[in-house]
Amino acid sequence: MKIAIIGAGVAGLTAAYELRDHEVYVFEAAGRIGGKLHTVPFNDGPMDMGAEAFIARRTDAVAFFEELGLTDFARPNRELRPRIYSGGELHFLPKGGMMGIPSQPIDLVSDETNARIENEQPFEWTPGQDVSVGKLIRQQYGDDVVDHVVSALLGGVYSCTADDLGVRATVPQLADALDTLAAEGPVTLSAAITHIESNRSPAEGSVFAAFPGGYATLYETLAEKSGAEIHLDTFISGVTKTDAGFKVAGAPAELGEFDRVLFATPAPTTARLLPKVAPKAADALKSVKLASSAVVGFNFASNVDPEGNKIPDATGILIAADEPDLHAKAFTISSNKWPHIGERPGFIVRASFGRYGDDALVRAEEDDLVDYALDDLQKITGFDGRATGVNEIYTQRWFGGLPRYDETHLATVEATRAAIAEVPGLDVTGAWAGGVGVPAVIADSRAAAARLIQ
Ligand SMILES: Cc1cc2nc3c(=O)[nH]c(=O)nc-3n(C[C@H](O)[C@H](O)[C@H](O)COP(=O)(O)OP(=O)(O)OC[C@H]3O[C@@H](n4cnc5c(N)ncnc54)[C@H](O)[C@@H]3O)c2cc1C
Repeated sequence: MKIAIIGAGVAGLTAAYELRDHEVYVFEAAGRIGGKLHTVPFNDGPMDMGAEAFIARRTDAVAFFEELGLTDFARPNRELRPRIYSGGELHFLPKGGMMGIPSQPIDLVSDETNARIENEQPFEWTPGQDVSVGKLIRQQYGDDVVDHVVSALLGGVYSCTADDLGVRATVPQLADALDTLAAEGPVTLSAAITHIESNRSPAEGSVFAAFPGGYATLYETLAEKSGAEIHLDTFISGVTKTDAGFKVAGAPAELGEFDRVLFATPAPTTARLLPKVAPKAADALKSVKLASSAVVGFNFASNVDPEGNKIPDATGILIAADEPDLHAKAFTISSNKWPHIGERPGFIVRASFGRYGDDALVRAEEDDLVDYALDDLQKITGFDGRATGVNEIYTQRWFGGLPRYDETHLATVEATRAAIAEVPGLDVTGAWAGGVGVPAVIADSRAAAARLIQ
């Protein structure tokens, strides 16, 4: 079977690998494969400038990596706890809870808020309903839990504040717990979080892993083992149905038509490619919005500046969404977090910027982004990166880096899938479809590849 895959991110490449017994062509608009996975060569070893880790609890993904022959995984340093900068101070991230949503009082919020958490008023929850995470917490606990804690945690994963994310799509365990408790009558958020905490297995702590060679290890292996013909710098502008199959506009003309087409592109792109072959799916998908972000990677000469100010012994620092006069949303302290990076010369830190609805920072001049990162790091930790010396800097912008999983998102995905299922020979996949994390993208892509050749 002759198959066209549009997009050479991890979704497209996974599908190419799954379909390796067929004649597969991958068309990629950019000049490189990997999409939002991008490993760049720092002087002393590879560094990821997009995704850097995966959830190791996803045994399906780990088994898939092992099938590819990738068995060497790095684990983050578990001795060092992440911090959060809120109210002008560094705090440890509260233990327990779910995505920063506490079941009991925490020291990051006001006494008044803690009293609200302790004396939370029950509310009606209809099983299956959805609401934004921010709205739910604001209603039950008050604003500062959202603005001081939860938006910082969710923003690290989704580049959106809690107000732009749906409970069911981004904290599904919470939606499930609320559904369960609602069978007994009105519910509370604190009871739902306690329910999650008490059902959590002790092993759940060690959740992340990474490839010591960076994500390039994965995307290069997928590309190679797929045996697919990958066309870079090949922008696809539309797909049409013909008597013989599908015509892919933008693909080299000599390749002719295809029996099957898989769209592994971001949602708005897929919506623009689909109208002629699947107008209903295109219509459903066009409501998905994207959040942009930027990452600046530094290799400092040391983790201690000439005045003796040290970067904290933490794996990372999140910054509260309402913290004034700061630009970054988080710092990943890579040399502390990952043993394989910690053993390299210098000291590597990644600064992250950008949340949904505010692209100004992502569009800022490169010099400004670097200055913001150095200024913010100094303000938060005292560490003066300029005086210490910077050996290397790499800036990566991710325009439309992540789809916004708001409270309408799951219904959008369902409607799109139903509409695409009406058109034999086509399927869709990507971070917008089954979850943004790499293991979720892989699972969705493998399922789409299997459907495509049924
Ligand atoms: C800054 C950042 C950090 C992240 N960190 C993590 C993390 O630590 N762990 C984790 O699990 N996940 C993380 N993620 C999420 C994860 O990286 C993404 O969800 C995933 O890589 C998306 O893969 P994809 O193949 O669906 O999409 P993409 O990577 O976006 O691939 C789509 C491809 O389609 C191509 N394309 C677009 N339009 C066209 C066209 N018209 N014609 C041809 N090609 C086209 C694009 O160039 C791109 O290469 C992070 C994401 C970002 C942005």
